[in-house]
Amino acid sequence: MSQALDDRIALLAPALFHHLGADGVYARTALFERVIEGLTKLISRYRDPSAEVMRFPPVMSRAQLERTDYQNNFPQLLGGVCCLHLHGSAEPSLPGGDWAAAASTSDLVVTPAACYPVYPLVAARGAVAEKGLLFDVSADCFRREPSRQLDRLQSFRMREFVRVGSAEQAFGFRSQWLERANELAGLLCLNYRIDKASDPFFGRTGQLLAMSQVEQSLKYELLIPIYSSERPTACMSFNYHQDHFGSTWQINGKDGELVHTACVAFGMDRLGLALFATHGARLDLWPERARETLGL
Ligand code: ATP
Ligand code: ZN
Ligand code: MG
Repeated sequence: MSQALDDRIALLAPALFHHLGADGVYARTALFERVIEGLTKLISRYRDPSAEVMRFPPVMSRAQLERTDYQNNFPQLLGGVCCLHLHGSAEPSLPGGDWAAAASTSDLVVTPAACYPVYPLVAARGAVAEKGLLFDVSADCFRREPSRQLDRLQSFRMREFVRVGSAEQAFGFRSQWLERANELAGLLCLNYRIDKASDPFFGRTGQLLAMSQVEQSLKYELLIPIYSSERPTACMSFNYHQDHFGSTWQINGKDGELVHTACVAFGMDRLGLALFATHGARLDLWPERARETLGL
């Protein structure tokens, strides 16, 4: 970690975030949100007119997430919703008010990535037409990775474009977005590089797959220096899942073959932070091109 960059973020932080008593959980200031709104509109301008828009809540069905084996792939990141299961309103109050000890898991988990809820929805609609499907989704996501660093939050916003269709369609979509990301980062005047990601997309049980993931180039990331130039932060990811979700949810094309899927994910809070880390806290001093792009 570079001390200079570290100090820079520490100086910026009070203008952007209010710590909410737990690491990685922040209130965002009006200044930060102005930039997030600009980013949100910018990404919408890149949306294909045929894309179906869905906004997901911060929780999702536990059964649906379990079907993807998330609990085995990323057990360290998963969070569940625990509740008291009281019967009737005359329930006596808990001894010592220790509701947490008396709570148990519910049918909900906190959404770990914005695209997970879309696949079961597609599956429920039956066979996918030849032209495939496109979605624009977002969710407040949760991952249990508490950190003092502002680029690693427990609760953060993720926007995604998702492609469902043939192998060519899914792979083509991902290739197209790898191109577009250059344009987008250029418009925002950000230093960046795009690289293959080596962290296993399919998690722990996919540890073996990690090697072949790099070989097969299933995941790329757009990396921007925030805390460190040597270890820049992933602000977008470009994922080709092959038929992973197609087979999990038994999603077929019209002639019966499993669909392939791909997604491009925008880490909204990381992109916002990257902009401030690069251009500073004074919006009026940002490069003209970035200000125009974001409508600031
Ligand atoms: P990392 O390797 O940094 O943990 P990731 O590979 O886990 O990232 P993805 O699963 O691809 O990230 O999630 C899509 C995007 O969501 C990331 O590119 C990033 O911008 C954002 N993101 C992921 N985890 C966090 C987090 N803890 N805090 C803020 N943003 C995050
Ligand atoms: Zn996704
Ligand atoms: Mg991660």
